[in-house]
Amino acid sequence: MMFETSIAGSLPKPSWLAEPNRLWPAWKLAGDELAAAKRDATLLAIKLQEDCGIDIVTDGEQSRQHFVHGFLENIEGIDFDRRIEIGIRADRYKAMVPTVTGPLRLRGRVHAAEARLARAHTTRKLKFTLPGPMTIVDTIADTHYGDRATLAMAFAELLNQEARALEADGIDIIQFDEPAFNVYMDAVREWGVAALEGAAEGLSCTTAVHICYGYGIQANIDWKGTLGGEWRQYEQTFPVLADSRIDQVSLECRNSHVPMALMELLPGKDLLVGVIDVATDRVETAEEVADLIAQVLAFVPAERVFPCTNCGMAPMRRGVAEAKLAALGAGADLARERLGA
Ligand code: ZN
Repeated sequence: MMFETSIAGSLPKPSWLAEPNRLWPAWKLAGDELAAAKRDATLLAIKLQEDCGIDIVTDGEQSRQHFVHGFLENIEGIDFDRRIEIGIRADRYKAMVPTVTGPLRLRGRVHAAEARLARAHTTRKLKFTLPGPMTIVDTIADTHYGDRATLAMAFAELLNQEARALEADGIDIIQFDEPAFNVYMDAVREWGVAALEGAAEGLSCTTAVHICYGYGIQANIDWKGTLGGEWRQYEQTFPVLADSRIDQVSLECRNSHVPMALMELLPGKDLLVGVIDVATDRVETAEEVADLIAQVLAFVPAERVFPCTNCGMAPMRRGVAEAKLAALGAGADLARERLGA
């Protein structure tokens, strides 16, 4: 089928699970009650995507507090009591982050519960997201490894262990989220893609990388205002990714200043094209979604176009996110209809 739809990964959490509209929300429950609530929210997230016509579904990241720190909670060598405030993404915004204080080792599975639950409750293709090594390194403090590239390779090994286990759980697509790839373009070439490939080593399922300009929070909206009329960050990273073993690249397109011709720098790759803006509450119409898909076809063959959201929807209002999911599904339907496909 042409124009299979998917989302970047996250959906807003219900207000009975976590504080709404926050990037690092506090859980509303604890212990067994929290585990059960995460499970319920995951089922709702899958059902909502299916009902909106999303072809490749995710768990909505309902079980993790934040897309980076969710992966870190079961790793030896990270001290969560030593939280410090650092500037992340080249000091674009401040975050309280834990500290790497010793050799890193997975204590066990990280995402088995939600991955297996999701697999048991959908027959659609299932995508699972993990933070990429460079983005983890940019969202943590370190007093042990002393070098970002070395630390990234250490995280890549742990990510690879979890990714292989997720594949065994029946996940169809494993996506690594690397917003840091739009910030440290020299490091992407020097070690970022190598670390990413390390994380994906030996996987036989489909692999993807999501590279965005961030959630629709004010710090990101302000940063985008400084990037000039044309955003050309992808121009530096796409050729390196084109030579990599990663199968799919998820990128921003809707309301973005990224020149669409940059999509031609990824020959042979599937493109998860952001046709839904997560930085505005204005809901796209199906016609707008179909029109943007049609514009993309000037640069990418139809069989490699996967309509998607620009980024995760975690901090959005639920009603808005749901309406945008419906627009994505309906827009892809309309695009297929227009092509008689
Ligand atoms: Zn993103």
